[in-house]
Amino acid sequence: MDLRRWVNAAVDEITAWQHTYGPYDRHAALRVDDKAFADAFGELTSRLHDNYPFFHPRYAGQMLKPPHPAAVVGHLAAMLINPNNHALDGGPATARMEREAVDALATMFGFGQHLGHLTTSGTVANLEALFVAREIHPGKGVAHSADAHYTHARMCHLLGVESFPVATDTAGRMDLDALEELLRTGQVGTVVLTAGTTGLGAIDPIHEALALREKYGVRLHVDAAYGGFFTLIADDTPDGVTAAPYRAVPHCDSVVVDPHKHGLQPYGCGAVIFADPAVGRFYQHDSPYTYFTSAELHLGEISLECSRAGAAAAALWLTQRLLPLTPDGLGAVLRPGRRAALRWTELLENSDLLAPYQQPELDIVTYLPRTGRLSEIDRISAAVMEAGMSAHPDKAVFLATYGVEGRALADRGHQIEADVPTGRILRSVLMKPESENWLDALHGRVEELTAATG
Ligand SMILES: *Cc1c(COP(=O)(O)O)cnc(C)c1O
Repeated sequence: MDLRRWVNAAVDEITAWQHTYGPYDRHAALRVDDKAFADAFGELTSRLHDNYPFFHPRYAGQMLKPPHPAAVVGHLAAMLINPNNHALDGGPATARMEREAVDALATMFGFGQHLGHLTTSGTVANLEALFVAREIHPGKGVAHSADAHYTHARMCHLLGVESFPVATDTAGRMDLDALEELLRTGQVGTVVLTAGTTGLGAIDPIHEALALREKYGVRLHVDAAYGGFFTLIADDTPDGVTAAPYRAVPHCDSVVVDPHKHGLQPYGCGAVIFADPAVGRFYQHDSPYTYFTSAELHLGEISLECSRAGAAAAALWLTQRLLPLTPDGLGAVLRPGRRAALRWTELLENSDLLAPYQQPELDIVTYLPRTGRLSEIDRISAAVMEAGMSAHPDKAVFLATYGVEGRALADRGHQIEADVPTGRILRSVLMKPESENWLDALHGRVEELTAATG
């Protein structure tokens, strides 16, 4: 699809609809001069060059990439109207699209009956899940792995709930023996399991944790903000991901997934889904100025946020129409990144200069220079990242770093002298399918930079 053609079509279609209401004069106070606009716009676009090339396979750093053109057009078309998905009256069309899009997300995980909605972000989506968890288990704490997203501890603090970090195993997954020891104290009401940690892409053993829920009466919340869409390729095939934890997700109490990470959406699109629709009761409120047209449940009655962009729902809905949540739809967008992660790990295993930190479970690769001391690993990693991004654009490569402790390296079989307590290694998120065809070039360039730095 040609982005320009459909951006124009979106403007034309919405304008034509607006014209059906008859002509009116825009207020003079809103008028801007063409020349002034051109100048300001020129300044904007030139300032926007101060960005890393998230779109390009040379960018293999953090979790960043542009949205799919279908999402851009869907977002723009709805944004010209600017519906507010807080209430049906704020945007009837996009509120229904949100419901359809969220139903598709729930079906993707295997939920039948459910209650869910979009949010502005994964953080807010997790906050909602933890808020409901607190209402159900007042006075009890929340356990999450030590590698869980940092916002879990922050949101627990906000909710006035104690948070308990649980040790991870040698693959970065929650250690269930350590969890069970904690559950025996009776202090925990909810366990957060991460399906794809932000740092390493590790998948907590959700399927094994199910038994602990029965035994200790805790709620299970799955934070699949990053890794959720990988359920589409969770089939244990050579270029898929492990199936068992994903098959257990619909047996948990809630799940969060971020369409603005692996769902091809622009920022401003997270989602929370609850297995039990009755949790809607915790959101009960009454306000004199909303909800006048319908007896149907308004999205604002089941979410903590008030105003939310209907455009986010339109973008997600349109994207799902074209790249449905199936193995052959969005799944085919995820597989190349997964293959790239596996292939890079193989190249790293055979490299004289670099070594993989651990096996990747998703599409995130972590690696380090082969040298004996942690202080040296830290220095070289930082220098390689720096040199990669300051090179000329046609030679540049963009990586990220990841902080590790000496013990975590030893746990993974790296024989390193931990002369400093922590150090940085290198990390690459291969979330664009184009990464697959660039892998040899990426690896070659990182080796070159490592050799030049060492
Ligand atoms: C990104 C992420 C979050 C936070 O989501 P935002 O959309 O950035 O607020 C939470 N948990 C995990 C596992 C994540 O990867």
